[in-house]
Amino acid sequence: MLLSKSFVPILKNNPSEAKIKSHQLMLRVGMIKQASAGIYSWLPLGFKVMKKIEDIVRQEQNKIGAQEILMPTIQSSDIWKESGRYEDYGEEMLRIKDRQNREMLYGPTNEEQITEIFRSSLKSYKSLPQLLYHIQWKFRDEIRPRFGIMRGREFYMKDAYSFDVSDEQAFYSYNKFFLSYLRTFKRLELTAIPMAADTGPIGGNLSHEFVILADTGESKIFTDKRIFDLNSNDTELEKNSLQLMRKKYENYYSVTDEKFNKEEFEKVVSEKNRLITKGIEVGHIFYFGDKYSKAMGASVDLPGGKKDFVKMGSYGIGVSRLVGAIIEAKYDDKNEIMKWPLSVAPYDIALIPMINKNDTSALDKAITIYNELSKNNIDALIDDTEENFSSKIKKMNLIGAPYQIIIGKKSDGDLFEFKEIGKETKNLSLIKIVEIIKKQKILN
Ligand code: ATP
Ligand code: MG
Repeated sequence: MLLSKSFVPILKNNPSEAKIKSHQLMLRVGMIKQASAGIYSWLPLGFKVMKKIEDIVRQEQNKIGAQEILMPTIQSSDIWKESGRYEDYGEEMLRIKDRQNREMLYGPTNEEQITEIFRSSLKSYKSLPQLLYHIQWKFRDEIRPRFGIMRGREFYMKDAYSFDVSDEQAFYSYNKFFLSYLRTFKRLELTAIPMAADTGPIGGNLSHEFVILADTGESKIFTDKRIFDLNSNDTELEKNSLQLMRKKYENYYSVTDEKFNKEEFEKVVSEKNRLITKGIEVGHIFYFGDKYSKAMGASVDLPGGKKDFVKMGSYGIGVSRLVGAIIEAKYDDKNEIMKWPLSVAPYDIALIPMINKNDTSALDKAITIYNELSKNNIDALIDDTEENFSSKIKKMNLIGAPYQIIIGKKSDGDLFEFKEIGKETKNLSLIKIVEIIKKQKILN
């Protein structure tokens, strides 16, 4: 792609309305455009990143056997009246009337809708467990939408739902999601810590939030530092190890403010291991048993001929919020360098030819390199403008492709000035460069 033809409206300076670095960068490089308070259009660069994140989230859901569906954004109020949440949800719910004067709503979450789908389709324990998910826009009329897409009113969420025959089986499903979340965030190069959390309006009594550390985060967290040293590489999806995996994390004190108890914190965590800080919630999982299935009559036949309400959990990831969370974690705002993980970067590599009016040989060379990279499925962005070298580098550092090739006078012959963004330049052949990037892609 040529930069001159791409829709990347870059601003020279940080927009004054943005208070945190993810919002600043997203506006600065034109990833999003505000439509109204808390509602955004996603422009090419932002949309590309969000779609790549979505894809990783999807792959990890599929890996644990969750099946993808797509439920509508607009729901009927009837099912919410059945669960009792139509009243409870309050002003965050956007309520709409259709032309027949029927009460509809823009879904803030989908427990009711999925329970309705389940109860009318499955009747036997033999169909369980069922893990279903969708990735869909949500609307919550947040009282204070802020920080760009971090706390929007319209936002993109992966929400999954589990259906099991017993509490014991349901904990197994819960743990599967727990572990799968650790893997998902790891692939996004984020350290997301599971924290015991309150269940809030969703209900139930078992819940974890996944939080990444950031000074600009809205969640206050209290944790034992040692939790950061745990690795989540355990890919065994066998019952005991899943249980152990969650226990391993739960051995360390780690809670959000609603669950915080000073006395307990000081008792179980030694002074040197205490960490009180802020974080961004990127995922939240809940177990709520038969709260919805009982209210809405979703039951299955058990082996002995009895019936019981199905046991449910729900599991959310803020896909659009993750775009901002990755920026918060990876943007070096002092040096204005964005280091996207290769797996979600808007482009794999930036080609920066030094062009002047009388000499386009560097651009020709860039196009030859571009074609070679394309053959290897490496997505490059060429800065074909005639701006000076330092402003070209500045722009590409903000856009944040993880690799750069500088094509100038020195690039005669087979070697090119290649660098990983923000690091030292090396002189390498194109074959070697392709090899490095392909290898990195496999690791992702
Ligand atoms: P928060 O505590 O941040 O308000 P929540 O607990 O209400 O979030 P959940 O219902 O657990 O959110 O939603 C699942 C995920 O969706 C959250 O972990 C978060 O990543 C994302 N999310 C929730 N609300 C918003 C929002 N207003 N804007 C963007 N993402 C959101
Ligand atoms: Mg939450």
